[in-house]
Formats: sequence, structure tokens, C-alpha cells
Amino acid sequence: MGETRRCPYCAEEIAVEAIRCRRCRSRLSVIDARGWHRDQPGRRIAGVAVAVARSLALPVGAVRAAFVLATFFHMLGPVVYLALGLTIPFRAEGDALLDGVIAEARALAARLWDGPGGAPNAPWNGPQ
Ligand SMILES: [Zn+2]
Repeated sequence: MGETRRCPYCAEEIAVEAIRCRRCRSRLSVIDARGWHRDQPGRRIAGVAVAVARSLALPVGAVRAAFVLATFFHMLGPVVYLALGLTIPFRAEGDALLDGVIAEARALAARLWDGPGGAPNAPWNGPQ
């Protein structure tokens, strides 16, 4: 076992990175950044529910049920799922899908705008 700290609620020794105390089940941190990626065991479609559940220390079934329930409120479930799927990176150290799309759009805009001669003083080239 690695480094430990003391639970502020029951004084039990717990792992430094713990989200919940194993003895009193008190929540010690809101978000676990290590779970914020979609490539995890138990993923079904894009891994969004697993990533959200692991990051917030919630049951995966409850998160999936929340997405399904949100579908009945103005189709919010699929919209939020898609938005999170675009912004949560697939791998722990990877970029999100949206980062790649933005980089491609920037490159395309630069090519279209600059043309064959280029635009040396364009604002997106940064300060001269
Ligand atoms: Zn505790």
C-alpha cells in the first residue's frame, strides 16, 4: 500500500488517492481525475457512463439510468452523452475527439484563408 492519510470523519488510515473512506464511506473528494477517460472495463457504447461513474464514485448503473431518464426530458440524455463523448478523452493520457476536430478545422481554415501566397500578418499567426 502506498501513502496514507487520516479520514477527517472517522480518523481511519486511508490511501491518499481514495475518493471514499473504506470504513465510514464518507466522500473525501468530488472528482477522481484518473477515471476521466472512456477506455475502461465495463464500457458498453462509448464509455461515457463508466468514465462519469468512476470519476464521481457513483454506481455505473445509476449513471446509465440517469442518461436514459434524461432522454425523456427534451432528449437531453443523448445530447449530453454525445457532448461528453466528444470531450472525454478515450485514453487516460490522450486527447478528446473534439481536440482533434478543432485542430483539423484550424489547419483547414489556415489553408483556405492563406491561399497559395499566404497571409503573413494574419492574427492567427500570433504576434510578429
Ligand atoms: Zn472515514
